[in-house]
Amino acid sequence: MARPAVHLIVSTGLATLQWIRTGRLLPALAPFLTGFLIDADHLVDLARYQLGGRRTERRIVLPLHGWEYVPVLVLLERILGMRCAGGLLLGYLGHLSLDQVTNTITHPLAYFVSFRWQRGFASSLFNHPDESAVDWMSGSIFDLWKQF
Ligand SMILES: [Zn+2]
Repeated sequence: MARPAVHLIVSTGLATLQWIRTGRLLPALAPFLTGFLIDADHLVDLARYQLGGRRTERRIVLPLHGWEYVPVLVLLERILGMRCAGGLLLGYLGHLSLDQVTNTITHPLAYFVSFRWQRGFASSLFNHPDESAVDWMSGSIFDLWKQF
């Protein structure tokens, strides 16, 4: 499983490449936004589970994890011109590729939001019977740093 620290290391590598390639700050920061901070969408599931009294729904949504966003980012990069110099797309591809290859999924299309939506965002797609089986969701919110 790709932990946040691994995504940070990969994003730092991509940011370094962007810095070498462009010599500008914004293209170097872009991979952090889409390659590291994107995991903040786990907080959506955490909030739903913890604020809902830890009631299991057997769902993991991960709203920002989806290959469908790739063409959206391609379009966004075109609109932005060379401002990010492909850094948004590069960071996202790095993140999702790493998740796709290293995380335990039960179907190769698990990282398509539309596929998960069709299956009710079943936690079984990520090999979890329900939310309580996910370590970081069951612990205290103050212990999240331990998952880094
Ligand atoms: Zn991720």
